[in-house]
Amino acid sequence: MFGRKAAEKLDDAAAALHRAGGKAGDAVANTVIAPVRRKVDIGCTRCARGKCQAH
Ligand SMILES: [Zn+2]
Repeated sequence: MFGRKAAEKLDDAAAALHRAGGKAGDAVANTVIAPVRRKVDIGCTRCARGKCQAH
């Protein structure tokens, strides 16, 4: 049901939250985004795009 586009949006949203809110942003991402992201069977799209700073 979720494809790569959705995974990219979720990964970007999580990264944006991290930039905007640091640890607080990460907490929001972990609560709101992570449960959805885990349903997407695609590896970190930011790693794939060379943008990832988390892995
Ligand atoms: Zn990554």
